[in-house]
Amino acid sequence: MNALVPLLYLVASVLFIVGLKVMSLPRTAVRGNLLGALGMLLAILTTILDRGVTGYLFIAIGLIAGTVIGTLMAKNVAMTAMPQMVGMLNGLGGGASVLVAFSDLLNTSDHHLDTLIAVGLSGLIGAVTFWGSLVAYAKLEEWPQFKKPYSLPNQQLINAGLVGLNCLFIAILAFSHNSTIQIACYLGIAISGSFLGVFLVNPIGGADMPVVISLMNSYSGIAGAATGFVIDNNALIIAGALVGASGIILTQIMCKAMNRSLSNVLFGVMAGGGSAANVDEIYANVRSTSPDDIAMILDGAQRVVFVPGYGMAVAQAQHAVRELSKVLEARGAVVEYAIHPVAGRMPGHMNVLLAEADVSYDKLKEMDEINPTLDSVDVAIVIGANDVVNPSARTDPKSPIAGMPIIDVDKCRTVIVIKRSLSPGFAGIPNPLFAMPNTLMYYADGQQAVLDIVKAVKAL
Ligand code: NDP
Repeated sequence: MNALVPLLYLVASVLFIVGLKVMSLPRTAVRGNLLGALGMLLAILTTILDRGVTGYLFIAIGLIAGTVIGTLMAKNVAMTAMPQMVGMLNGLGGGASVLVAFSDLLNTSDHHLDTLIAVGLSGLIGAVTFWGSLVAYAKLEEWPQFKKPYSLPNQQLINAGLVGLNCLFIAILAFSHNSTIQIACYLGIAISGSFLGVFLVNPIGGADMPVVISLMNSYSGIAGAATGFVIDNNALIIAGALVGASGIILTQIMCKAMNRSLSNVLFGVMAGGGSAANVDEIYANVRSTSPDDIAMILDGAQRVVFVPGYGMAVAQAQHAVRELSKVLEARGAVVEYAIHPVAGRMPGHMNVLLAEADVSYDKLKEMDEINPTLDSVDVAIVIGANDVVNPSARTDPKSPIAGMPIIDVDKCRTVIVIKRSLSPGFAGIPNPLFAMPNTLMYYADGQQAVLDIVKAVKAL
């Protein structure tokens, strides 16, 4: 068995990498996920059968408890609460790294210098990830104590001090040969790392939490890779490195799609307001409409594009939207979906919802693909989207979303916006699209609105 272990870990690692590759296309994503899960199963079984394992009782308890809790959480979580759940799982990964590295420090006596440095890094990054993710979770859940960004006076200085203190602890841990001093240093790392995790995330607004969670995902991978060096486990090193790298790539993609830098997300506050024009002025010419009027407009439409946003997720309107598209297609219209990379509250949010409603993938068009063709669209139906269709990103250099690429629905012949009111979206700014001459607002809950439109179109 012993000789087989590295080979089985290699197979598990190949499954992780192939799984990630296969996951990059919506059509094959489920298969990719299964391949990754298979790799993880193989890695776990290999570890359990490896002769280094001396007792199975605690492993069995952990596996059963983890399986039950994980399955229940995944089955019951609302789609809109997915970022919180991912955040919580990252945090637990970081916490596990802290505990595994600590137990290795306690139970192994002949550590090399490089392993001791890895122990310190596991403790530090793991503690930052655990506490940072918990604060991110609390912010996304809108717990009152965490709702507002909060920082201590001279927060950056305090954080720099904590980083310095941790470097000192790691150096003493690595070079000291006294186990009591090493354990004291490790506890110092875990405690000051915990403060650092809270202090790094607390000043960031709830609105930027999805980016923070993606970053924490990356940290949990780096902590896992460091722990892999501690316990000399190649599968953990590779899996941790993959999570670390993919997390940081995703963070970059999210920042780019919002036209913000990572440092602006971590250390800046998203400015509200934008240009000096006041909301009443911007919305002076807003016109509202009704399902019957919308049905009449759709009657002659040959090309219709749905632009979904966060409100579609809140209203769970994806099935109704699919029904409307089927009704329109039956009447001869071409129907497509314009997907903005940061529509909703997590990357791929709209793709997941529309896939759940069995919308075929080839109808989902990415922003860059559909934008040049929007001037030939008869009707754009914006359902619960706001910031991702806000033309002030193009026109107002003072806007907090200035420069963010948007879906240019204002170029379509008619734009119907379905939302409950004129209240702003995630960025907290007014949207001049609502007052454009080619725009009609239909104020209602997304799901009910679309069902009413379906009824009106069928009655034509
Ligand atoms: P927005 O948050 O800009 O707007 C959502 C709109 O949905 C609101 O204006 C709201 O208006 C409406 N809404 C809410 N509930 C309902 C409902 N039940 N029925 C109908 N409408 C509803 O969403 P977008 O998707 O346009 O933009 C996403 C924003 O999130 C961007 O600013 C992006 O930068 C940000 N973001 C996205 C991330 C991602 O990974 N996807 C990560 C981090 C940030 P009303 O209350 O009037 O109904």
